[in-house]
Amino acid sequence: MHADVIVLGLGAMGSAACFHIAHRGKSVLGLDRFRPPHDRGSTHGGTRMIRQAYGEGADYVPLVLRAYELWEKLERDAGMRLLFTNGGLVFGSPDGRLIQSTLAAARQHAISCAILDKRETHRRFPPIALLPGEVAVHDLRAGYLLPEECVRAHLHLAAGHGAELHFDEEVLSWKAEPSGVQVTTQRAVYRAERLIVVAGPWAGESLQGLLPLKVTRQVMAWMEPNGGIDPFLPGCFPVFLGESDDGRPAYGFPSIDGPGGGIKVAIHGSVQECTPANVDRTVTGQDTAELTEKVSRRIPSLRGRVLRAQTCLYTMTPDEHFIVGQHPQYEPVSIACGFSGHGFKFSSVVGEVLADLALTSRTSSPIEMFSPLRFKDPIFVA
Ligand SMILES: Cc1cc2nc3c(=O)[nH]c(=O)nc-3n(C[C@H](O)[C@H](O)[C@H](O)COP(=O)(O)OP(=O)(O)OC[C@H]3O[C@@H](n4cnc5c(N)ncnc54)[C@H](O)[C@@H]3O)c2cc1C
Repeated sequence: MHADVIVLGLGAMGSAACFHIAHRGKSVLGLDRFRPPHDRGSTHGGTRMIRQAYGEGADYVPLVLRAYELWEKLERDAGMRLLFTNGGLVFGSPDGRLIQSTLAAARQHAISCAILDKRETHRRFPPIALLPGEVAVHDLRAGYLLPEECVRAHLHLAAGHGAELHFDEEVLSWKAEPSGVQVTTQRAVYRAERLIVVAGPWAGESLQGLLPLKVTRQVMAWMEPNGGIDPFLPGCFPVFLGESDDGRPAYGFPSIDGPGGGIKVAIHGSVQECTPANVDRTVTGQDTAELTEKVSRRIPSLRGRVLRAQTCLYTMTPDEHFIVGQHPQYEPVSIACGFSGHGFKFSSVVGEVLADLALTSRTSSPIEMFSPLRFKDPIFVA
């Protein structure tokens, strides 16, 4: 077949890209080596945090606001809830980088936030006991998304608009030709005008080592709080992210799975480099001990039993900002990868941007900071 666009990878970003392309009436072929949503990449585990006061960089705020609009539209189109804005807390020292950057982003873009001291935080959210002198920034529109449902909804609607989606079909190679692109899988050779490479933690191999990407092993655990889950229900408990001296903050979610489901917690960041092929997916007692220790410093009741745990993969860039843009060497190819553990919330808008790039070679969304060219070795710059 000859499609307008081939999308390599149907995870968070690829499913959204397929949806936007098909919705614009263009023909799209989506290929995935597995059957998304699946648990071998970066998009599983039931919840993903979304925030507006974006400490990772104020320049992300316009994009995240557009992402909210698109998530809300996706909810209407799919007829189901995907986004829950129960609020979010970022805690830490008032002079620390996390709090300062969160407040700077909020101020710059007029995002509604409140600053709560230790006492007020505990009054509103009884399980939380901040460390002495710490504050919490309450981002009122923060919350969480259901990642697997979002991927399902994007794929389902893409197919409804005519997208052809092939699962369990691995892409073995691709090449750009004067007339477009050629993609070879285990089953066939396909041609298209354009290619979008959105291979998540497999981006290194799909882009033949073009970019300085590093894959890390992350652990998520579902904890049974001592004293029961009632104070952790989404009606009264926020998503949270707490500063850490080692730069790897612990974060977590309200209890969304009812009794027996537990509270999902994790650490943002990892020193365990791996590949999707060699990662150890077995969670050890040492993994969960580190997690429990970090989280229970401020939420003492989360010292209880670990009900279950799972690994997941981050794809890190050196500056922890995303890579989204045209392939530096091949004009018909666009890429989006290196989401550095904070990409999911943006996947709705990244899908829109990728459709813009594939169909018109430009986008009005502010993606300059994500340019793949920023990693060019300075000595090779003419
Ligand atoms: C534990 C954890 C917690 C996170 N928490 C948050 C959070 O709270 N908020 C947030 O915004 N982000 C969060 N993230 C990050 C976010 O989930 C990722 O940035 C995002 O899901 C990445 O999506 P992706 O489409 O790039 O990758 P994926 O969803 O993994 O998709 C890549 C797809 O490509 C396919 N593929 C790869 N190679 C081939 C090939 N050769 N042929 C065919 N198919 C191929 C794979 O099968 C896969 O389906 C978290 C990630 C993890 C692991």
